[in-house]
Amino acid sequence: MRTGGAPGPERRKSDGPVVVALDVGGTGMKCALVRPDGTVHHAERHPTLAERGPEAVVATILDVAEGLAKRARNDGLDPIAAGIAVPGVVDEQNGIAVWSANVGFRDVPLRDLVTERLGLPAALGHDVRVGGIAEARLGAGRGRSHVLFVAIGTGIAAALVVHGAGYGGAHGAAGEVGHIVVRPGGNACGCGGAGCLEAHASAKAIGRQYAEISGHSAATALDVVTRAAAGDEQATTIWQDAIGALADGLVTCQGLYDVNVLVIGGGLAEARESLLAPLRAGIQERLTFQRMPEVVRAELGDNAGCIGSALLAIDLPESA
Ligand SMILES: [Zn+2]
Repeated sequence: MRTGGAPGPERRKSDGPVVVALDVGGTGMKCALVRPDGTVHHAERHPTLAERGPEAVVATILDVAEGLAKRARNDGLDPIAAGIAVPGVVDEQNGIAVWSANVGFRDVPLRDLVTERLGLPAALGHDVRVGGIAEARLGAGRGRSHVLFVAIGTGIAAALVVHGAGYGGAHGAAGEVGHIVVRPGGNACGCGGAGCLEAHASAKAIGRQYAEISGHSAATALDVVTRAAAGDEQATTIWQDAIGALADGLVTCQGLYDVNVLVIGGGLAEARESLLAPLRAGIQERLTFQRMPEVVRAELGDNAGCIGSALLAIDLPESA
C-alpha cells in the first residue's frame, strides 16, 4: 500500500495495516485499532454525551477517528480504512445514519464525513448487525453458516448473518425481532404497538415489571434473576413469563430463518445459564417442525460492535 517516496531514515517500516473502528452508542463510544485478523492493537473509550446534540457527537466521532489514525502511524502501523457502527436506522449502502432515537442522528452522511476527515475509505454499519457479524465470524457463532445474534438489553434486536455477511433488509431495518408481537394486547411498547417481545422480555421490561409489583423501584433484570433463584415468588413469575415470551419470539425467528445457532448477547446474557438453560427448554417444547438451533452466549461482550465495525472496514475492497 505504501508506494513511492524515498525510504528516509526517519520513516519507520510499517508493522502492518490496521483499521480504525468505532462503535457509537447512546452513552459511550468503544474505539479501537484492529488488525486484519481481528486482533486489537489498541482500544479506548469515550463518552458520547448525546445530550450535546448530533452535530457535537459527529464532531467527536471525527476527532476520535482522526486521533486513532494518528496513533496508528505513531505506532508504526498503516491505517488503511475506518469502520463506524451506529444505532437506529442505518443506510449502509450510502453510508448514512438515517435516524437514531438515542444519539439524535437524522440523515447524517457519516461515511463520507469520515472519509473526508481521515483521507481513508470508510464503512458505516448498524450496531447490532456488525456485532452479529463479529460474533458469527470470530465469536460464539464461528464455524456455523447461519447465525442469528440476538441482543437483549434495554431493547431487543437481532442480526441474521449468513456465511459471515449481515442481512440488512431492503431498507436497512431488518432484525427488529423485539417488535414481534408475542402477547397480543399486552404491554405497551416504545414503538407504539402492544405486546411486543421487548415490552415483555427486554432487560428493561423485566426490571420494570418487577419494580411495579414488588415496590423495589431500582430492581434490574439481573436482580430479578438473583431473587428468582433465591425463591422470591414474584421474581420467579416475572422471570418465567419473560423466558416464555423470549421462547415464543425465538421460535418464530427459527421458523423464519432456520439458523444453526442463536447467539444471545446484550446485558441479559450476563444471567448466563439462568437464562440459557430455561430458554433452550422453552424453545425445544414449542418446536413443531422446526429444527432446534444451538443456543449459546455471545463471546465478545460489549466489544462485538467495535470488532464488527472493524470487520466492515477490513471487508472494503480498498482494504484488500
Ligand atoms: Zn414494539
